[in-house]
Parts: sequence; structure tokens; C-alpha cells
Amino acid sequence: MKFAARVSLIKPSPTLTIQAKANALKAAGRDIIGFGAGEPDFDTPQNIKDAAVRALAAGFTKYTPVGGIDELKDAVSAKLKRDNGLTYKRAEIVISCGAKHSLFNIAQVLFEQGDEVLIPSPYWVSYTDIVYLSGAQPVVITTDVRDNFKLQPAQLEAAITPRTRAIIISSPSNPAGVTYTLQELQALAEVIVRNKIMVVSDDIYEKIIYDGLPFYTLAQLSDELKQLSVVVNGVSKTYSMTGWRIGYAAGAEEVVAAITKYQSQNTSNPTSIAQKAAVEALNGPQESVEMMRTEFQRRRDVIVRKLNAIPGVSCLNPQGAFYVFPNVAAYYGRSFAGKTITNSAEMATYLLDESNVALVPGGDFGHDEHIRLSYATSMEQIERGTDRIGEALLKLR
Ligand SMILES: *Cc1c(COP(=O)(O)O)cnc(C)c1O
Repeated sequence: MKFAARVSLIKPSPTLTIQAKANALKAAGRDIIGFGAGEPDFDTPQNIKDAAVRALAAGFTKYTPVGGIDELKDAVSAKLKRDNGLTYKRAEIVISCGAKHSLFNIAQVLFEQGDEVLIPSPYWVSYTDIVYLSGAQPVVITTDVRDNFKLQPAQLEAAITPRTRAIIISSPSNPAGVTYTLQELQALAEVIVRNKIMVVSDDIYEKIIYDGLPFYTLAQLSDELKQLSVVVNGVSKTYSMTGWRIGYAAGAEEVVAAITKYQSQNTSNPTSIAQKAAVEALNGPQESVEMMRTEFQRRRDVIVRKLNAIPGVSCLNPQGAFYVFPNVAAYYGRSFAGKTITNSAEMATYLLDESNVALVPGGDFGHDEHIRLSYATSMEQIERGTDRIGEALLKLR
């Protein structure tokens, strides 16, 4: 079969691939410990499920406006005001089928061939592919572990060319949990405003942040930045609603109108029932968010300590999201049973085969010396899984 060239521009999501492989092994009876998941392991809170059931019973099962129901846009608007001090009206908000869909649509309406889009690395695996599919060129800026993987203003400045259209930035980030302080964002903002590049801010981990750190998004720093920004967020990670597929983008009215037009010719509206559930998520009680956040922080403390206790492994202490991104390169070049590990993909395969632990190679996030583990799993699995990783690594000679 001859396929369109765009299909070969991209690869299947490695995180979803690992997850599928781990699930298949589990189904075949292997005792797999999964650190691959890119989603919270909690159930969706009951009040949110109840809202969906009510919507269903009320027959709220038809097409809605393409860009989402007013009730949800109002809930998003109120959230952006309450949590971020940002004012957006309905016409500046579009609801999509997940934050990934929002990011995809933004790229489709803003970027094209000849444009460069800056992506600090380590980056979320989908950013580069979403940019490729727009025809633009992703320009990866490799951050330094000694800077805690934070993009430095001088690095940003050096990467900007006349072709630069935008930067995609996320704080807290996936995979390293990088969380910028206000001062750090202000320093980046100065470069962004002076060069007038756009900002796509992926705020999906806003509520999963630790050590009492406050959350900031670039758009709230000044009116000029707000004009240059499109804010992306959603309910997947905060409310453990990954399967519901509700995300949103907020930005200039003309950008939102273009996204809505684009969406009208691909997905149409996001699922009607899920929109009602998202209204309850945003407007309803928020206790479950804090419960999940506290539990993630407890797990983070354990997994970081246990990984750093393995000789040769070094792991930054993430300040948000639910991933750790340890460096395991001390074991590259070593062998077990005649097989030598030379990169993160081989390391992930080795750990799956040898210790029944599923995790994602760091190479997929732009840093091949690392592996990514999600700690959206039980404390017991974290304890046992990290023990197994330690044992498997020490077998390498
Ligand atoms: C999970 C994730 C998303 C996608 O969220 P959905 O709303 O489920 O599409 C976006 N960005 C990052 C960094 C993520 O980890």
C-alpha cells in the first residue's frame, strides 16, 4: 500500500506502545510491574461520574456546538480566572478532545512549512510529531541536567531565528517534572516578548505540583505575553479523566476561531456527556485533587530515594507531574548473558525481559542516557519494581 508521506514523518507514541506490550505480557501471565503509564491510577471521582450519568439520563447525547458547550466554556473561564488570574471570554476558549487534540489543532492553524518551533528537551514525545504533522520544523533545545533541565534564557535566545514561530513549553513537565519558578519564567518571558514569538503553554500538570511550589503560566506575566500565548490544559491528569477526552485551549479570539473552524472539519464537538462531566470536575468539590496530589508526592519521595540508592543511578527530584527521569548511562557498555546494553531502548527491553519491569526509554524524550518511570502506581509496586531494577542493573558486567 502506498501511504501519504506524512505518515512516515511520525512514530507511534512510545509510551502507549510500552503500555500495550506490558499489558500483553501481563495477560500472558507474567508478573509485570508497570512504570509506563502516562495516566493517574486513581478512579475518576464519583461526583464527576455522577454528572455524566445525569447527562446521559437526561438525553444529553446529541451534537453540541463544535467548540464546546457554553456551560463548559464558562467553567474553563472561571477556572482560568480563579487559578491563574487570567481573563478569557467564551470566544477565546475552545474545548477539544483532550489537551493533545488542542495542541494538534493549534499546530495545524498556526504552523506551516518554513516555520521553526522551539521545544526544550527533555520533551513530551508528542510535541515533535505534532509539529512535524503541521509541516513546520521542530527545533529541539537540549537543556542541561546541571540546570535541573530548565531552559536558560541564553539558550532560548540562541535558538531563535527569523523563522521561529513559537515555543512549546510545559511546567511541570513530562518526563522530568521540571517546574519553573516565577523568576525563571520572567527571564524567559523577556526573551520571548523581545523576539515576539508565540507561546504554546501546556499546563496539563498544573495541579500536580509539590513542596508547596506555586504554579505560574507565562500568559499571566503580562498583557503582551497573554497576546502571544495559547494556554492549553484539560481534565485528564488533574481529575484522573484520561479516557474522557476533554481538553481546552485559551487564546486570542482569532486563534480560537481558526481552531474551531479546523475542528469543525475533523472531530466536530468533543463528547457531549464528557463535557458535562468536565463542568462538574471544574466547578465541583476539589478535595480529590489534593488527595491525589498528596499521594503522588509521597510516592515521589520513595521512588527518588530508591533510585538514587542504586549505585551509578542519578535521579533529579521532580517538583511536579508523576514521572522520574533517572540517568542510567553508567550501565551502558555493560553486558548480561552475552547481550550488551548501549542505549535507553536496549535498557528498557533488558529491564522488561530480565526483571519484568515496564518503563519508557529516555531517547524518546530526547535524552538517551535516561529512562522514564511513571509513579502513577501503588507504593507496593514502586518498592518492588525499584528493587527489581536495582538487581537487574547490578547483574550487568
Ligand atoms: C498526558 C499529557 C497530555 C495529554 O493530555 P490529554 O488531555 O489526555 O490529551 C498533554 N501534555 C502532556 C505533557 C501530557 O503528559
